Amino acid sequence: MSIKAEYIWVDGTEPTSKLRSKTKILALGEEPPVWGFDGSSTGQARGGASDCVLQPVFTCPDPIRGDGSLLVLCEVYGADGQPHVTNQRAALRAVAERHAAQEPLYGMEQEYTMFEGRDPLGWPKGGYPAPQGPFYCGVGADEAFGRQIVERHMDHCLEAGLKLSGVNAEVMPGQWEFQIGPVGPLEVSDHIQVARWLLYRTAEDFGVSISLHPKPVKGDWNGAGCHTNFSTRAMRSDGGIDVITAACEKLGERVDAHLAGYGHGIEQRLTGAHETCSYKEFRYGVGDRGASIRIPLAVDRAGKGYLEDRRPCSNIDPYVVARLLLETCCE
Ligand code: ADP
Ligand code: MN
Ligand code: MN
Ligand code: MN
Repeated sequence: MSIKAEYIWVDGTEPTSKLRSKTKILALGEEPPVWGFDGSSTGQARGGASDCVLQPVFTCPDPIRGDGSLLVLCEVYGADGQPHVTNQRAALRAVAERHAAQEPLYGMEQEYTMFEGRDPLGWPKGGYPAPQGPFYCGVGADEAFGRQIVERHMDHCLEAGLKLSGVNAEVMPGQWEFQIGPVGPLEVSDHIQVARWLLYRTAEDFGVSISLHPKPVKGDWNGAGCHTNFSTRAMRSDGGIDVITAACEKLGERVDAHLAGYGHGIEQRLTGAHETCSYKEFRYGVGDRGASIRIPLAVDRAGKGYLEDRRPCSNIDPYVVARLLLETCCE
């Protein structure tokens, strides 16, 4: 008997990478082997020496095909045997190993926008819906657009064994969110990537496309982010609030490096309006959704827990964001 293995990898598209995938037929019980692809078609190689290597790093059941089929997330290597420059997972691996003793945990809130053709799902053709207000966590055919896709995607994530922690409708109609976590740095990033792939693939069957653009509609409409919640064991232990405050101070001293890694187009989203703090400022505060870093009220009351970095955009490379937080808060 044969099974289908969908090999998934991050490509070299600039300024924001995309996911690519292709299918390999394996014998039942066969470990997914190293494979290759044409890097000249993905922005990862020149035509003359176009072979890139796919190194499987995370495998889970494929809930769409079923029947023992697999999803195989890969790191990309060059023909020289070194991690490809687009392989940010390799860079995270090294930093994660260095700080493993601090037991970092992450929760990423992936926001995204559904599109049907050129318009967000549920919007009148070429026009605008009623102003924002009722749509966040809304219910009903006049307020929630795309729930069938959201529900199916949620089932797919759970069947794949991803550490999904919830979903919700967002402030802008046609915009939704799913959360992964709390888990470690490589796990949260791998699960985000596979969950994104499952989202694109699930919506494809409905003729709906998914945008991770951080400001999909200009004007008085919310952008899309990927708030990243972060903690170390010390933050989660008694007296952790002091460690959290110290981490906020460190984040305030390394703003530029973080903004550079928090998604292309971040200045379009971090305007200071729509529940964001301007990218020109840095603030942290308790329960403040207008701050760069929010310390949840419940965390402040308990005196321990985690912080929420509200700056990362929906189109982040999760491996880069996970690494930056480790470097800044744990070094
Ligand atoms: P919000 O109120 O900002 O919308 P969400 O409920 O969408 O919050 O997301 C909160 C995220 O924080 C979840 O993904 C959850 O797994 C994560 N989280 C909870 N506790 C911790 C922790 N100690 N460290 C890191 N992440 C955490
Ligand atoms: Mn959320
Ligand atoms: Mn949200
Ligand atoms: Mn949030």
